[in-house]
Amino acid sequence: MDDLSRFCCLNLDCPTYGKRNHGNLTVPARYGPSKTRVLRCSTCKTRFSERKGTPLFGTRLPAATVVSVLAHVAEGVGTRKTARLAGVNKDTVTRYIRAAGEQAQRLHDDLVAFSPADQRSPVR
Ligand SMILES: [Zn+2]
Repeated sequence: MDDLSRFCCLNLDCPTYGKRNHGNLTVPARYGPSKTRVLRCSTCKTRFSERKGTPLFGTRLPAATVVSVLAHVAEGVGTRKTARLAGVNKDTVTRYIRAAGEQAQRLHDDLVAFSPADQRSPVR
């Protein structure tokens, strides 16, 4: 049995949108070399990848490699060093930094209702 407790329906028009562990998701299929799960909402019948909305969506690298790249970057390792350590091209590192940054920005906007003004900024 797949653990789907961390997932929710991603269809904005669905009554169960954003409700985790609601029992409305099933795994009707898998795709790709890493057997990524396709999730289906029984309420609205929408299907989507378990990776949708994450830096792993659409990646051709193994998930472990992507995680390694992002772990190096998170520890402050530079792009070229990360590329050498993870065995990928430096442009690949840049692409994943951008994808992870955009996802983090969306997550921040969802979780933080109000961001205090940056005191370092001249415009308030
Ligand atoms: Zn739904």
